[in-house]
Amino acid sequence: MMQLIGILLHGGTLIFINALLSLLSSFAFLLAYWIQPRLVPPRSLLCWCAAYLSFAAGFAVLMLPAFDIQVPGLGLFGNLLIDAGAALNFVAIVLYLKRPRSDLWVLIPAALLALIEAGYVLSHFENMRVMVGLGCAVRGILTMAAAMALWRCADESRRPVARLAAVIHALWALMLLSRILWWLFNPAAEVTFDPTTAFGLTTRLVLTCAITPCFLWMLARQLDAELLRYASRDALTGLANRRVVWEQGEARLAQAARQHRALAVLMIDVDHFKKVNDSWGHAAGDAVLAAVAHALAGAASDSDLVGRIGGEEFLVVPARAATAAALAEKLRAAVADLQVAIDGDTVLRCTISIGHAEATGAEADWHRLVTEADTALYAAKQGGRNRVVSRESRRGEGRGATAAIAPA
Ligand code: GH3
Ligand code: MG
Ligand code: MG
Repeated sequence: MMQLIGILLHGGTLIFINALLSLLSSFAFLLAYWIQPRLVPPRSLLCWCAAYLSFAAGFAVLMLPAFDIQVPGLGLFGNLLIDAGAALNFVAIVLYLKRPRSDLWVLIPAALLALIEAGYVLSHFENMRVMVGLGCAVRGILTMAAAMALWRCADESRRPVARLAAVIHALWALMLLSRILWWLFNPAAEVTFDPTTAFGLTTRLVLTCAITPCFLWMLARQLDAELLRYASRDALTGLANRRVVWEQGEARLAQAARQHRALAVLMIDVDHFKKVNDSWGHAAGDAVLAAVAHALAGAASDSDLVGRIGGEEFLVVPARAATAAALAEKLRAAVADLQVAIDGDTVLRCTISIGHAEATGAEADWHRLVTEADTALYAAKQGGRNRVVSRESRRGEGRGATAAIAPA
């Protein structure tokens, strides 16, 4: 197979196409660096750009003998540039995936092997058995390390593409291993000519063609996920925004109706919030809102839907309607216990009022349910604030103490 490729394909042409493709990839990463938003570590893109530039330079050096430029050690220098490209590609992946820096230890054995290769070739001559053996080992170690880092990608949005890139890297490492094995099993081979070069260059072409789009695809998926996050999260509190609460609330109600279950809604409003802004400024108001959101999310469970639907208004859709009133009381108490430090010695406290409504059956309507929770909330405000009022008991007594927003 290796010899067949060597007969079919011209080595010089393959080196030229590899150099060209590497250069184009380098430009693609440079372009991504220019237009990338802040979410991608910019150093990783620069590192990728440098990696492909190093590959291109390495292939360009390997082309020089075709122009009658014969300098001793030229082949070694070209290969070392390609090794440097593989090392930079690995560093770029570690930076891009925010892997621990300890992953970089692999660079040490790779550098040692490259040094041994350089020392041997400079003191002896360009023995292909040594150059292919050590050169492929250096690149093989770095490529396998890159494959493992990609396989362990922690980010869900990028993981499928990262794993595809990991498999491609692993296949490339296997190809490098097969070149080493060829030299091991052909001890009588002429050591000034490498019949596995064309095979290596062809697979390298396939790798660049597959891997660069993979990395750009990963960037695109990451941007998509980030845009989705921006579009569905409230910027100040990080909670689900009104659109998401409405969509998911309606969906949960439809599901509850199908399963003949009740669905509860808790409409929450911060008491006398305007006073916070008026007395302590808008920034203090923002800090209080963020703290309230944090307390609500902390008191609710992961399966409860908690969102910010307006200025100082929040909505919670408890996962279980049966315990919704208890959850409401827990949320009220969590916020009442809050102490929000707004500067060195000022600590603010605040309270919330909660309207609780419940719907069940096929006629249940999301908008009607929310309006009923709103009506119950109004009753909680009328009843003295810092309390929970349920739709059924809105004419009755609420729970809790008198509302208060004051320095603690
Ligand atoms: P009540 O107990 O009746 O709810 O009184 P309140 O003062 O909380 O009610 P009101 O609706 O009059 O005031 C809400 C205030 O919330 C008015 C608005 O300036 C403020 N607000 C809305 N959105 C934000 C925000 O994102 N940040 C800050 N700091 N304030 C906000
Ligand atoms: Mg309000
Ligand atoms: Mg309010």
